[in-house]
Amino acid sequence: MAVPFADLQLQYQNIKAEIDAAIAAVIRDNAFIRGPFVDAFEHDFAKAASVKHCVSCANGTDALYLAMAALKVRSGDEVITTAHSWISTSAMITHAGATVKFCDTDGVTFTIDPAAIEAAITPRTVGIIPVHLYGQPADMDAIMAIANKHALWVIEDCAQAHLARYKGQMVGTFGAAATYSFYPGKNLGAMGDAGALVTNDAALAEHMMRLARHGGLVKHQHEIEGVNSRLDGMQAAILSAKLPHLAAWTEARQRAAAIYDAGLNQIEGVSVPQVAPGRDHVYHLYTIRHPRRDALAAHLNANGVQTAINYPTALPLLQAYARFGHTAEQFPHACRDQNSILSLPIFAEITSAQQDSVIRLLREFA
Ligand SMILES: *Cc1c(COP(=O)(O)O)cnc(C)c1O
Repeated sequence: MAVPFADLQLQYQNIKAEIDAAIAAVIRDNAFIRGPFVDAFEHDFAKAASVKHCVSCANGTDALYLAMAALKVRSGDEVITTAHSWISTSAMITHAGATVKFCDTDGVTFTIDPAAIEAAITPRTVGIIPVHLYGQPADMDAIMAIANKHALWVIEDCAQAHLARYKGQMVGTFGAAATYSFYPGKNLGAMGDAGALVTNDAALAEHMMRLARHGGLVKHQHEIEGVNSRLDGMQAAILSAKLPHLAAWTEARQRAAAIYDAGLNQIEGVSVPQVAPGRDHVYHLYTIRHPRRDALAAHLNANGVQTAINYPTALPLLQAYARFGHTAEQFPHACRDQNSILSLPIFAEITSAQQDSVIRLLREFA
């Protein structure tokens, strides 16, 4: 049985009438840039994310840049982040003008190790960007305690963690600001690029808005030099049409993860994802570890099951960071995981027959 890694076409077919109507309304109203559809999505997403302010922008990468620019990151500053993420997280630290300081993961949850953060702090450190990787919250109590002790800001990268909770509290509400991506494959995805910043700080929200819109909120009044990072009306309307389904989609992902957990955890060689106590995982990705990862992936792919590696190289070892001269020994968990992780197909609409076939192939491989 063919099992795609995700099935955006099926999701669209299930809510086609709502999506088509949303797109038609934007065209009818000529509301392509800013306008009522963008305002409505910002309002609705702020509510869904349990925050006071949502500032939409062009994508999740821009959101990280804009958050740091709004927090006035400067050259000479150091910002701490995880060795295991998508490159946006670290690249935007550099583009905001600061120096990236990588920390290893905790060896269990794929999220940043708070003990490593403490060790990486210097007098130049200004902030920490934890990533709720794969949809599991990072250890926010420990991270916020360190941040408060050293007067550092925290920006949560929530690109993979829409609606995830840590000890009952929504991710994205712990730090000064948080960033979201609505890349099509994310748990809430647009039909193109889209992103947002969220915060409970009104002044910070206004500053982020200014930065994202050419430095001013009123046409031709540029108070500062900003950038053009707008969410377009079409994407906003599509996201508003999808948002009411997000909670049910998230539960469906969690049910699918439970089926994988039960089917895979007795299979020789397979380590299923470990969820730390108090953390609600939203399974943007269902990532196992396997000592013969490449052979396993080839077996699955040859039998019609798509897989992915998120990500094949730990950030510090990418060519982009060769200037730091990092070695694998400095990031033992992240660098061990890069050779053993394998993401299996997961999406809200995955069927139990599809999951059974994935599980059967893994058992067969063992
Ligand atoms: C997707 C992603 C981003 C970037 O989002 P884009 O919308 O693709 O720019 C940033 N951080 C993480 C962890 C991501 O998964």
